[in-house]
Amino acid sequence: AEAELIRAQRFESLAMLAGGLSHDLRNLLQPLLLVGDSLQDYQHDPRLARLGKLVRDCGKRGLDMVHSMLSFARGARRAEQVRLGALFSAFDLLMQGSVPRTVTMELAIDDPELTFEGNHTELQQCLLNLCLNAIQAMPGGGHLRVEAARVQPAEDFFRPGEPSRQCCYLCISVIDDGPGMEPAVRERLFEPFFTTKEAGTGLGLLSCKRIVTSHGGVMRVGSEPGRGSRFDLYLPLEAPAGADEQMDDQDNLEGSA
Ligand code: ADP
Repeated sequence: AEAELIRAQRFESLAMLAGGLSHDLRNLLQPLLLVGDSLQDYQHDPRLARLGKLVRDCGKRGLDMVHSMLSFARGARRAEQVRLGALFSAFDLLMQGSVPRTVTMELAIDDPELTFEGNHTELQQCLLNLCLNAIQAMPGGGHLRVEAARVQPAEDFFRPGEPSRQCCYLCISVIDDGPGMEPAVRERLFEPFFTTKEAGTGLGLLSCKRIVTSHGGVMRVGSEPGRGSRFDLYLPLEAPAGADEQMDDQDNLEGSA
């Protein structure tokens, strides 16, 4: 389970890196391709035309590579029917062996039969990231509670810029009674590579946010020093019109949390 976990985490970081990189690369390569394209038809100077063709061919190869990287980054984002009970039992299984004896873990699901559109693997990864964070925050032991319930957010729940929908949401909460976070840490949680751990990647929460955002949902963090932390994921239970596009949208990498 440990190796599987590390592999999944690596994959997710890689997908994120690939997504971000290919985006930037594409923007760099497109003008190059254009220049090469117009130079290769330059009649007055065959040498320049040959160079133009070289630039064009390299640019074309680069763009092809970028496109395959983009499809890799998107690969993990296929929409399917996720059953809450299945999500939690798969997650429970993966957690076995990662929960130290000093930590008690409790799962509380309202309705295991609840089914919604999303990506099982991604959501599982998201839960894992949050729970491992919680466990790592409680080296001396503590209590970890994961709950899932259907909620109807109030109208003023959403912040400007967040996708808000008049529908029911599934709220999955990961709650620990660890040391909590100082405001200075809380503010930087979603910065890439921000970590307070010696061997941390600082990508875990960012990748959670990416996953929640790509599901059309929002994330909330509640934490105070000495009072534990909670991470709430709100996932819409009704797919909006054009949901397929949303799951596919690479420009969504930096959605809001
Ligand atoms: P990493 O786990 O590699 O450090 P994350 O993005 O998952 O990267 O987390 C960033 C930082 O947020 C952590 O280094 C830690 O300081 C803080 N953090 C995350 N979850 C918790 C938690 N449950 N309790 C206390 N601090 C947390």
